[in-house]
Amino acid sequence: MEHPAQYRGRQVVILGLARSGVAVAKLFHENGAVVAVNDKKERHLCPEAAELEALGISVVCGSHPEGLVHEGVALVVKNPGIPYTIEPVKRAAELGIEVVTEVEVAYHICKAPMIAITGSNGKTTTTTWTGLMLEAGGLKPIVAGNIGRALTEAALEAEADNRMVVELSSFQLKGTRAFRPAVGALLNVYETHLDYHGTMDDYVVSKTKLFANQTEADTAVLNWDNPVCRQTADSIRSSVLPFSVREELAFGMFVQPPLAARDEDTVHTIVYRDKDGQTHRILPVRELGIPGSHNVENALAASAMAVASGVKLETIAQVLKEFRGVEHRLEYVEQKGDVLFYNDSKATNPTATIKTIESFKQDIVLIAGGLDRGSDYMELLPAFQSRVKGLVAFGETKEKIVRVARLAGMSRIKTVDTAAKDARETVEEAVREAQALAKPGDVVLLSPACASWDMFSSYEERGSMFKESVHNL
Ligand code: ADP
Repeated sequence: MEHPAQYRGRQVVILGLARSGVAVAKLFHENGAVVAVNDKKERHLCPEAAELEALGISVVCGSHPEGLVHEGVALVVKNPGIPYTIEPVKRAAELGIEVVTEVEVAYHICKAPMIAITGSNGKTTTTTWTGLMLEAGGLKPIVAGNIGRALTEAALEAEADNRMVVELSSFQLKGTRAFRPAVGALLNVYETHLDYHGTMDDYVVSKTKLFANQTEADTAVLNWDNPVCRQTADSIRSSVLPFSVREELAFGMFVQPPLAARDEDTVHTIVYRDKDGQTHRILPVRELGIPGSHNVENALAASAMAVASGVKLETIAQVLKEFRGVEHRLEYVEQKGDVLFYNDSKATNPTATIKTIESFKQDIVLIAGGLDRGSDYMELLPAFQSRVKGLVAFGETKEKIVRVARLAGMSRIKTVDTAAKDARETVEEAVREAQALAKPGDVVLLSPACASWDMFSSYEERGSMFKESVHNL
């Protein structure tokens, strides 16, 4: 696409209202485009429509009307969650009309360099952490995207001396063309979101679009321990800054000695080896403010982005030490008797749950289950065999997860029958059952391995209900 100012007098169709749709609609309207906004939701579920209509923007709710996308349309901006298979998007493809997401629009108007973060897991934690490092380094970051404010809104405000730190999903990246972040980080690629992308290939291609327009002047921060990320290095022109918890690198951010050589007495240190081969110590891993080996990976990624942005190593060390994590991610809730309760509601896929389980030394009673996306959850088996001693399963996937628990030889298993209960009652019962299954010294962990939408409006709602239920025990 071109700069939004180039659409004066031309027709732009915006699919999906929500926060980002509204921001994009206003932007094009202010730039003189003829904007039509469409959302499949009924009008009474689209409170944002009134604000746009008051500005003279046409809004159609309730269906995708025939003829919405026609030859006269110059651009379609699609909400990232809307699939490419719906009629107006297919029609745009037939007519050769560009279909982009908000990120692409924001890129064209943003005066500040962009630092963009994507990956299957760890995006929010790493984005937040990177933002804090840049803040401490005086680089005036604006954190936006999946977290924080709508990207276009934030991009409009950004000046050349700011940094835009953005968390991006593969859905958002799929709709980019010219987007070129000064620093891009691909944290990891796991088999997830397949229901949307259809194939792993499509998912990987979307993620790696992060680097598609980068040149040697830009930085690609890549997880050297993840095969897909590592392979990406062969097909991009960016300057690669790798990070690894498993090996010492000739250049990059890594752990010395690697975490693989784990034993209780070893002191592992996060170090940065520069282009001249000089190694700089940053912080011992055990001084990180949040637990879990996945958070060591996130720490390395954030530190690498901060180094690439010019933040001093002492400043990075300080923020690594002080950061206490983000709500709903391995969040300590409360101790009840001899049992510790943790909320990891954001673990919406098995890989995230496995990482969290591996972060604990104690035995775990796990509360898991949720939306069924077609997986068999067998990848949970080794983690179940190691530290998970009890399971309380709920949601659409409960039987599948129970099957894995049985295969793991677990005997303390309960399911919560959700049919006659609302979400709150389900969570309350799950918490009570988990407490009953726990032995002194155990951890009760909500880490569902599934999305929340079978019962809850969001993972935040699920996590908040869990925390309340624990407090009320
Ligand atoms: P995202 O924004 O990508 O969903 P979050 O930072 O919100 O990621 O973390 C979500 C969950 O994913 C965490 O609770 C944790 O269980 C898991 N996780 C976090 N970082 C990583 C990582 N680097 N690798 C694998 N799993 C991770």
